[in-house]
Amino acid sequence: MEKIIIAQKICDEAKSILEKNADLLFITEGNLEELKDSLKIKNVAGIILGTWVKFTKEMMDYAPDLKFISRTGAGVDNVDVKYATEKGILVLNTPEANLVSVAEHTIAMLSAISKQLLFLDSELRKGNFKARRLNLPVDIDGKVLGLIGCGKIGQLVAKKCISAFDMKVMGYDPYVKGKIENIQLVEKIEDIFLKSDYISLHLPLLESTKNLVDKKLLSLMKPSSYIINTSRGGIIDEEALAEKLEKKEIAGAALDVFINEPPDSSSALLRQNNIILTPHSAALTKECIVRVAIDAAMNAIDYLNGRTPKYVYNKEVLNLK
Ligand code: NAD
Repeated sequence: MEKIIIAQKICDEAKSILEKNADLLFITEGNLEELKDSLKIKNVAGIILGTWVKFTKEMMDYAPDLKFISRTGAGVDNVDVKYATEKGILVLNTPEANLVSVAEHTIAMLSAISKQLLFLDSELRKGNFKARRLNLPVDIDGKVLGLIGCGKIGQLVAKKCISAFDMKVMGYDPYVKGKIENIQLVEKIEDIFLKSDYISLHLPLLESTKNLVDKKLLSLMKPSSYIINTSRGGIIDEEALAEKLEKKEIAGAALDVFINEPPDSSSALLRQNNIILTPHSAALTKECIVRVAIDAAMNAIDYLNGRTPKYVYNKEVLNLK
């Protein structure tokens, strides 16, 4: 039987789907040496992969029989997809399983920063009931949400923000053709930064989107506005953002993703008090980790059984469009 490396914790449902079709080699999440050794084993046909490891050319070259990399998530920026494609290795992902969870996390962050929840909670615990008159929260109702990236998650966030808060939604996405219901698309990214009360990022990390949100764009934000990133670290210039927060030139920020994960302890972002930070956990809800692992397992099993997996990222390997 072929072997599959399980390089992150997965649920029992996904395990039982996989073990009927392959021998499973379990790797301790975070143990790079153990992973490298396992990749060298004969008949390792695939790997179920999270985001903790950069799956580089070097890693692929360790694995003589590798045929697929099945990501438990949508983003494939930790995989050298170009090299995988050259080698004929399929990159599979799970682009639908985590949409709701990431959209909800985004809105939870938007609500928490607006309502000063972390500040009020920590002051109350210190006995400072008078905090209720400090750092006043703001209402969200009717405010402008500006999306950078209007794909699946961006559109879901828009829909939920409209129904929950009656927000007006603007969006910048140069690849969208035509209109999107309830989102006013703009041609210039600058307009999002100038006009939004909340800016929310929902785009992939690519060479072209690295540091897209730089000092110049951040300088266009209104002093009362907030920025939220649940997409990928590296899209916002973290130093420039920390400076804006430090100088109180914007109202606040919320980040689930960082250039380095975990972020360096020296990161200026960690010293700001007008920011909420979560450890890349938007998609780690109890329900989502099950959905994602099952989709990743099904992708792998479909491939091993000669069927076309539902979610193939580098379709060129299969000559699919
Ligand atoms: P999607 O592919 O449906 O949408 C991404 C959108 O970004 C597309 O419409 C694309 O045209 C747009 N885009 C690409 N380059 C752009 C640019 N330069 N400027 C503006 N828009 C641009 O993806 P999705 O499912 O909506 O997910 C969005 C991102 O969320 C993913 O790329 C992924 O990295 C991230 N994500 C994060 C988590 C998490 O745990 N925090 C979980 C899932 C997904």
